Amino acid sequence: MRQNVAPWQRAAMRPAVLGRAAPPPGMGLAQLSHVGDGNVGQGTGAANATKPDLIVVGAGIAGLYAARRLARAGARVTVLEGRSQPGGRILTERPSQSASPVELGAEFVHGRSPELHQLIKEAGLELERVEGEHYELDAGEVRPAKVLGEVLDALGHPGVDDAGTALDLAKERHFGREQTRWLTHFVEGFHAAPPDRVSARSIVRQSAATESQSRCRQGYGALIDYLCAELVNAGASLGFGSRVESVVVEPHGVVVRDQWREHHAGACIVALPLPMHQAPKELGGVELDPAPEAVTVASRRLESGLALRVTLRLAEPAEFQRALPHGSFIHVLDEDFPTWWSGSDGNEPRLVAWCGGPRCARLAGERRAAAAALEVLGRITGKTVPELRALVREVHVHDFGVDHFSRGAYPYELAEETDGDLPLVAGRAPLLVAGDFFDADEVGTVSAAVKSGHAAASVLLGEERHSSE
Ligand SMILES: Cc1cc2nc3c(=O)[nH]c(=O)nc-3n(C[C@H](O)[C@H](O)[C@H](O)COP(=O)(O)OP(=O)(O)OC[C@H]3O[C@@H](n4cnc5c(N)ncnc54)[C@H](O)[C@@H]3O)c2cc1C
Repeated sequence: MRQNVAPWQRAAMRPAVLGRAAPPPGMGLAQLSHVGDGNVGQGTGAANATKPDLIVVGAGIAGLYAARRLARAGARVTVLEGRSQPGGRILTERPSQSASPVELGAEFVHGRSPELHQLIKEAGLELERVEGEHYELDAGEVRPAKVLGEVLDALGHPGVDDAGTALDLAKERHFGREQTRWLTHFVEGFHAAPPDRVSARSIVRQSAATESQSRCRQGYGALIDYLCAELVNAGASLGFGSRVESVVVEPHGVVVRDQWREHHAGACIVALPLPMHQAPKELGGVELDPAPEAVTVASRRLESGLALRVTLRLAEPAEFQRALPHGSFIHVLDEDFPTWWSGSDGNEPRLVAWCGGPRCARLAGERRAAAAALEVLGRITGKTVPELRALVREVHVHDFGVDHFSRGAYPYELAEETDGDLPLVAGRAPLLVAGDFFDADEVGTVSAAVKSGHAAASVLLGEERHSSE
């Protein structure tokens, strides 16, 4: 858990109180700005009882980003979050006696999303480029992962027919046995997806969009802290421990129900992970009435993949780590944790063990995952259990697959369901849905979530028409 209490936390940890004058039917926030004092968009930031209310459900980066834009524009915003902290799948620990953070969820900044890069800049965070080379460890021998390079090159170029699954793509492009094995490893590891189900077209598309990657030196969590501080400064409320069950459009706005009570507001942005839309209400899913068509299509078209990362803080670098340039990725195919890299560690030796795709299911749960990572480390370093105990000082892990509020790591597109792109945001005022499952180029990334949150706020600010119902 987070060790430090950010300044915004002291100010913001209060229950949400809503329920003011409702707006006229069928109006968006931009229109509502003219009900009351009419200055939404002038950026006064302070709470004002005559202004319309907006509820954002979910304090992940998509929800916080949207909330911040609207709060800055002068809207009175409340964010309702099921967990006791914001960030969702951005979860950064700051271990005691360590200068650098440990990421349990998102680590890399992918692609070139202008909104995300602008936000990072604004928050004063430093980006460090990840230039790591890829190596394979096979029968005790380390060598450059040449076949992985060939596969990544091939994925960087669209084929004539990428309509099927990733495995169909392997056949279509006449991949040999080794290339198919590495393609499987890549699709499972990077996309958290089963190669016999995921859409080849979406893999190729994302490979083209993800040219470079970097990480925030201060940790992704610093971005969450920044957004929360901004929200608090703009007079917004952050309500934690609010497990939302339904959002219903009514003639005068929306009614959001959590496990405690009803909250009334003029409009609502729902910014939840896809599985919360796919699960039935009796199993903890969130009911939307009416559900925007694009959410129904996304629920059919995408699945949520599994991924597990275990970060090991070490007393000294592992031998194979020492032998390779800093930032290298090492692949040990067929192991339970088949991908390893040095963490964002400053000068402290760390290793991240990564497992993605269906094989994660058998490692479910933090204890099991940590034990499995140590077993693999023992095998690849040849160390005994007592030697490993001396080497590994701390283990950090969070299993988002069994976490009630995420139910998976990130989404991937199914092969049979890829006709046309989904919009960046679904619905129309007063009910909009945002999330990392809407952006075909960068699906399942922080960048996609930010873009979608941005688009949702734009719709309510009247900068964009709704893109879908
Ligand atoms: C292990 C892992 C590694 C990753 N690595 C990367 C990476 O390197 N780079 C990258 O770009 N992306 C990565 N991702 C994906 C990235 O984290 C997500 O795409 C992004 O954070 C999604 O943001 P979001 O706001 O859409 O959703 P979330 O972060 O999931 O936020 C949704 C919020 O809604 C809350 N919530 C859920 N249900 C309810 C409810 N019923 N009521 C109220 N609140 C609710 C959740 O608690 C959560 O806070 C990774 C994800 C994981 C799990």
